[in-house]
Amino acid sequence: MGAGHAHLLLMTRADELRRAGIEARLLAPPGFDYSGLATGVLSGAVSPLANRLDVARIAGSAGVAFRAGEAARILAPDRCVETGEGEILDYDILSLNIGSRIRDPLSLAQAADVYPAKPLSSLARLRVRLETLCAEGWARAPALVVAGTGPGGFEIAAVLEALSRRLWGRSNVTLVGPDPEAGFVSARARDRLLAGLDRRGLVRRRGRVCATSPGSCRLEAGEELACDALVLATGLVGPELLLSSGLPLDPDGRMIVSTGLVSMGDEQIFGVGDCAVIEGHERPPLGVFGVRAAPFLLAALQARAGGPPARPYLPQSRYLSILDLGDGSGLALYGSHARRGRAALWLKRRLDEGFLNRMRRLES
Ligand SMILES: Cc1cc2nc3c(=O)[nH]c(=O)nc-3n(C[C@H](O)[C@H](O)[C@H](O)COP(=O)(O)OP(=O)(O)OC[C@H]3O[C@@H](n4cnc5c(N)ncnc54)[C@H](O)[C@@H]3O)c2cc1C
Repeated sequence: MGAGHAHLLLMTRADELRRAGIEARLLAPPGFDYSGLATGVLSGAVSPLANRLDVARIAGSAGVAFRAGEAARILAPDRCVETGEGEILDYDILSLNIGSRIRDPLSLAQAADVYPAKPLSSLARLRVRLETLCAEGWARAPALVVAGTGPGGFEIAAVLEALSRRLWGRSNVTLVGPDPEAGFVSARARDRLLAGLDRRGLVRRRGRVCATSPGSCRLEAGEELACDALVLATGLVGPELLLSSGLPLDPDGRMIVSTGLVSMGDEQIFGVGDCAVIEGHERPPLGVFGVRAAPFLLAALQARAGGPPARPYLPQSRYLSILDLGDGSGLALYGSHARRGRAALWLKRRLDEGFLNRMRRLES
């Protein structure tokens, strides 16, 4: 269920599943948006579809039966899932790689002109919206507010600044959240990062957005900010579907799995990527962990089919993440180290294109 990173990589090794006697079926939306390039799409650095993969074609050339759609319910005691269309699909083993959603306890995403950072297609929609406004002669740079001051919020604010500047020659972007000083970056790199963003005119505010109305949004402290579009980058939590699954979940609604990637509440259900968290090895929701889990998931499934015991998956505690700053530079973060510059963005593009090219070989 779900064509996240790990399941896409399983498609490249579908032969090994078949040889183990496993008949794999994939239930997922027909398109997959790859997150590494999502901000490149938003900034306009790459084409709007540059990060999109055709899941149906990938499954087709891997010889895996594909059902387009989303699961609406997991009926674990009956070993079946119900699709959004009400169809019941039985399983012996269920593997979940269904990603995450934006934390939105106030349901801000329901309002017009609000763009949650997930699903990623909403960022592509925002780019198209801004390009359309510009083409229609909207005179001033729209007031854009990004809620959330984690790495994702900073990255989105920086690339929106670049997009506005490209379209209007100037920008009006405000980043609002509890940590406008970018506490996730070591002190030395932080000063340079913030100085660079301040020079580009990005406004940083401490606070939380609690309501929106046409043309403005309100902060918890009562202040109103001009806002033509609001982006929610308020953190990632487990998919809503899991809430009714009966599976053990962590406080963020991610299913708790063992180092064997199996749910702590149901031996027949595996979980990888953002939707799962490994007990004792909790990591933030990042694509890299789904990618790294893929060979372990394959081995675990083969073991279930009578293969040799699988090794446990112990996610690395230090990992590389690179933010696209929209101005041709990137910020590479690795443990407490940070490095900013063009080389960081070059490396990010190389890594992201590596994944996409690997999958595109199956698309043709
Ligand atoms: C703006 C932004 C930029 C990011 N940049 C990076 C980055 O550069 N590097 C990085 O490592 N991480 C990045 N992340 C985090 C990254 O998006 C996630 O960690 C990553 O996508 C999780 O991968 P996954 O394989 O778990 O699931 P996903 O990539 O989210 O894939 C899950 C798939 O399951 C499908 N699905 C969902 N629900 C169902 C259902 N009910 N039934 C069937 N299918 C379903 C979805 O449509 C989707 O195709 C970024 C996140 C954001 C918001």
